Amino acid sequence: MATEINNEKKLADTLLYKKKSAFERFDAEERSAAMAYAEGYKDYLDNAKTEREAVKKSIAILEENGYVPYDFGENVAVGGKYYYNNRGKSLYAFRVGSEPIIEGVRILAAHIDSPRLDLKQNPLYEDSGMGYFKTHYYGGIRKYQWITVPLALHGTVILADGSSAYVNIGEEPGDPVFCVTDLLPHLGKEQNNKTLATAFNGENLSILIASSPLVENGEVTEEDDKVKLCVMKYLNDKYGMTEEDFISAELCAVPAGKCVDVGLDRWMIGAYGHDDTVCAYPALTALLESDGSPHTVMCILADKEETGSDGATGMQSGLLCDMIETIASAMGEKGAAVRAKSMCLSADVAAGFDPLYSDVFDKKNVAFMNFGVAMAKYTGSGGKYSTNDADAEFVGFIRKIFAEKNVLWQTAELGKVDAGGGGTVAKYIANLNITTVDMGVPVLSMHAPFEVISKADLYSAHTAFKAFCL
Ligand code: MN
Ligand code: MN
Repeated sequence: MATEINNEKKLADTLLYKKKSAFERFDAEERSAAMAYAEGYKDYLDNAKTEREAVKKSIAILEENGYVPYDFGENVAVGGKYYYNNRGKSLYAFRVGSEPIIEGVRILAAHIDSPRLDLKQNPLYEDSGMGYFKTHYYGGIRKYQWITVPLALHGTVILADGSSAYVNIGEEPGDPVFCVTDLLPHLGKEQNNKTLATAFNGENLSILIASSPLVENGEVTEEDDKVKLCVMKYLNDKYGMTEEDFISAELCAVPAGKCVDVGLDRWMIGAYGHDDTVCAYPALTALLESDGSPHTVMCILADKEETGSDGATGMQSGLLCDMIETIASAMGEKGAAVRAKSMCLSADVAAGFDPLYSDVFDKKNVAFMNFGVAMAKYTGSGGKYSTNDADAEFVGFIRKIFAEKNVLWQTAELGKVDAGGGGTVAKYIANLNITTVDMGVPVLSMHAPFEVISKADLYSAHTAFKAFCL
C-alpha cells in the first residue's frame, strides 16, 4: 500500500527523511521552556559530581515530591511513590501505576558515575618538598585532558572507629584546588615524538596537594616526611583522619567549579559530568511528572557504568531483577512475567557530531547538536559486537509515541563502523528479558573535564522520557 501523497506538500517532504533542528521546530514557548529547564539541570549537576552526591541530591528531590523509602518485601499501593537507596551509590525510584503490574514497567535507566581520577588506597607521598596523591583513573579518559586542570576532592572516608566523613574541597569560593602538572614546552622535545597513547603515563597522574612542611610553634618540624605531616595535620584537624584511613576511603578528584553557559547565545552548557547527568536529570524529572500515567514507571540511577557496570551498585548486579520481583510479588505476580512485558530507555549520552573531527563520524548516522535527543538502536563495536540491538518493532513503537507527542529526536550511531566503539547499560537490562533501546543527549568532548551539550537536546530528552512514561 502506497503512502497517501498530500498534494499541498512537495513529494520530497513526504517521502524523504529530513532532520530539523530545534530552532526550526521549537516555537517561542518551547524555546523559553528549554532555557528554563536548563537552569534546574545546572543546579542538579553542580550538586551531583559523584554518584554519592547524585543519590543524595536525587533523594532530596524525590522526597520533596512525595516519594518514600522502600525496602524488599514491603507492600506497594497503586499511586504509591517509592525509592530504594542502594548503598548510597545507586538509586531505584518508582511510581506504581493504575494498570495491572503484569503489563510491565516503563524503565528509564541512566548512570550517575563519570570519569575522574580516584585516589589510590595508599595515596600520599612527598617528593622534593611537595606533597602528592597517587591516583588510578576511573573510566575511559584521554589522560592529557586531565593535566593542568583545577581539581576538587570529593568523597567519603570511613574512619577507624567506623564513622564516616564527607570530603568536599575545592568547590566553595575561597577553597584551594589541586592539579596534575605538565611538562613545559621548552623541554618537551623528546615527549613530542611519542604517540598520544604513550606520552602520558597513568602512574604519573599524581595530584599536587601541598608544598610546605609542617610548621609547629613557628619552627619546621624535625620529623621526617615533613610535607606529608603537613597534609595529614590538615586532614586530621578537618576530618579526624589518619593516613591509614585512606585505605577505607573513596576519594575522587573531579574538575573544580560550577557549570557554565557556552556561546554568546547561551544555548549550550559546559561542565564536568554531562555523561551521564544530562540523561539522569531528565529521567528523574520525567518520573516526577508521570503522576497521571497508568503505567508503573521506574527511574534507575546506576553506578559503575564507566567501568563496565560490575559490582553491587552497577547494572550487572541482580538488583533490577530482584526489585521487579519484589514489586511484582507485592502485587501478586511473578517478576519474570513482569520483566517480559517491561520496556526500558537506556538513557545515556551520544557522541555529538564535531566538525573539527568530522572524519571519524558517518554524517548520515551521527547525532547533531540541537537536533534533539538521539536514539541508538545499537552501540558496541567491530560488527555490532557486545551490544543490545533493539528490535525494529520497539523502535517503531517509540517512533510512533514521539511523533504523537511532538518530540524532537534523531537516530544516531557513535561513529564510523571501524573507528572504535562503546557501550551502555542497555545490554545488561536487555539481558534480563526487558525490551531496551538507547536514548540520550549528544555531547561534544565526551569524557573530557569540560563536556558540552545543547539545552535544546537536554529539553528534548526530558520531553522524550516523559512521553515514554505517560
Ligand atoms: Mn554514559
Ligand atoms: Mn561515558
